[in-house]
Amino acid sequence: MSLDTPISPLFPASKAPTATHIVYLALGSNLGDRRGNLAAALQQLREVITIETVSSVYETEPIGYLEQPRFLNIACCGKTWLSAQELLHSTQAIEVAIGRQPTFRNGPRPIDIDILLYDDLHMQDNQLTIPHPRMAERAFVLAPLAEISPNVVNPVNGQTAASLTGGRYPLSAQPAHHTGP
Ligand code: ADP
Ligand code: MG
Repeated sequence: MSLDTPISPLFPASKAPTATHIVYLALGSNLGDRRGNLAAALQQLREVITIETVSSVYETEPIGYLEQPRFLNIACCGKTWLSAQELLHSTQAIEVAIGRQPTFRNGPRPIDIDILLYDDLHMQDNQLTIPHPRMAERAFVLAPLAEISPNVVNPVNGQTAASLTGGRYPLSAQPAHHTGP
């Protein structure tokens, strides 16, 4: 059988899904084995996203609710064939698989996966807002995002990640000593 032969006549090669959507995600962890949780999430994300770039690991102070451990944060980008809603379902399933319990916004969690950007999509429904509505105010998102893609543009405000960070890392989001989880 030639390598070009479709596996099944029901699923011809010409109709195979193609990875066409460029996505940027932010991941954070402040419970348990934080670095291990980030690594496990990345590994599971690779089932649905061809991950192309992963930032350094940033240790950041909690915001909003301060009586909790520091976070480790990363950003990554890649390509996926999933719709934005399908991607959210996948990221939420990964959060649960890594042990996330229902909590409150900015609360402690073994893993948080936020969809920052999906192509130049701008959408809002009950489950999903893209671009992520709080990304522009979160140094722990902007610093790793600007590291991996300084020129990526938020389609709502037209600003690049680098311009939103002010061109420098805020004190609350210094790169960790080692790269990549
Ligand atoms: P935060 O990440 O701001 O701390 P949570 O992770 O607790 O907040 O919020 C989870 C909720 O946010 C989910 O119910 C999900 O439906 C919703 N949500 C809306 N937009 C997004 C997005 N772009 N990425 C991830 N979750 C989103
Ligand atoms: Mg979240």
